Amino acid sequence: MKLLGKMAVICGALMMLATPVMAEKKIKWKLAMTWPSTLAPLATSAIQMSQMVSEMTDGNFVIRVEGKEKHKAPLGIIDMVKGGQYQMGHSASYYWKGKDITSVFFTTVPFGMNLAEQNSWLYYGGGMALMQKLYDKFDVYAFPGGNTGVQMGGWFRKEINSLEDLKGLKMRIPGLAGEVFAKLGVNVTNIPAGELYTSLDRGTIDALEWVGPGMDIKMGFHKVAPYYYTGWHEPASELQFLVNKRAFDKLPAGYQVILKTAMKAAGVEMTTENFDMSVQAWSQMEADYPNIKVKTFPPEVLKAMKKATDEVMEVYAAENEEFKVIYESQQEYMDKARKWTMMSEYYYLQTSELVGNE
Ligand code: CA
Repeated sequence: MKLLGKMAVICGALMMLATPVMAEKKIKWKLAMTWPSTLAPLATSAIQMSQMVSEMTDGNFVIRVEGKEKHKAPLGIIDMVKGGQYQMGHSASYYWKGKDITSVFFTTVPFGMNLAEQNSWLYYGGGMALMQKLYDKFDVYAFPGGNTGVQMGGWFRKEINSLEDLKGLKMRIPGLAGEVFAKLGVNVTNIPAGELYTSLDRGTIDALEWVGPGMDIKMGFHKVAPYYYTGWHEPASELQFLVNKRAFDKLPAGYQVILKTAMKAAGVEMTTENFDMSVQAWSQMEADYPNIKVKTFPPEVLKAMKKATDEVMEVYAAENEEFKVIYESQQEYMDKARKWTMMSEYYYLQTSELVGNE
């Protein structure tokens, strides 16, 4: 008995020693997305991130991903992550424009940086620190989570040949771009996604913007509006992963690294999938609807849009110091970055055009 008792004590001590080595405590989190679970490529990011985290931890860190069909609060993600009902979220910063106007910079702004420039600003130009400063207000960590690249200017039923053509035009275009268009006389409306196709088809609205071919094709806009204008207002819309700070800080250090790595990899995956979806969708649209005309707004319209954008931004900057700081940081970085973009990408594309490789 005495010996058995001793053995039991030894076994118990060994088990205590062995426990932390054998496995971390199983961690179960939930993530809420602004989008439905089936909406590729936006939903791809969180779903793939969650799979990577599970695989890298041998199933010990599990993140259940819920789309808007489940939680019914697509624009409440920031509050749900802040409050801890969900440890994570996946959304786009500019949806918090009503809570904090500086949030727009971390998605995209009219006439702002393209994808390469914006990533460069985020990772090497001080952008991440500015983004975190905003999200500190919500007790949330924010990480880049995929990018749509340049979004198209939208589908128009009629051609836009002059500034006059914008006057009284009824268009669905949200956010800062809507404010810019309103200054130019556009009658800006916001219509739920499910009613957009019918509104455009019936002429309740004359134009709308959505994303780009990859996501627009399923909406069917190309069947009812023949003019597809090139982009100016969302040159590189970045999505974000949001993580509740208390939850993240409690994670074992190794899991924090795994989570960060998976978020970054999933963001790249979404960006790439989105590009491919647009490649495929445009090819399909062009074949099925050869009458679609890809147009760029006339120079006088573009110049007026730029002037109105500058005015909108300057009003916000004058009344909000934080806005001014981020605006200047982006503008200064873009001034330098754009020179390199022009020397590299822009002239390369011109060269391609010249040799017939477009
Ligand atoms: Ca859009």
